[in-house]
Amino acid sequence: MTRRSREAAVVECSECGARDAIQIELTLPDDTEVTFNSCHRCENRWWESNSKVIDLTTVLEKARRR
Ligand SMILES: [Zn+2]
Repeated sequence: MTRRSREAAVVECSECGARDAIQIELTLPDDTEVTFNSCHRCENRWWESNSKVIDLTTVLEKARRR
């Protein structure tokens, strides 16, 4: 499998430490830049904003606000 996507960067998983997690940058409607991280090995998923982990609930609330 080749990894040539420019949107996705590979990051280290905070749960299992595998360097097999992908990172996707998104901008929410309120201009908050967040990154969605997903690990292929343990299926851990998490969101970050300004290098801090944030709740999915927070992301959804921001996404809903228009
Ligand atoms: Zn993992």
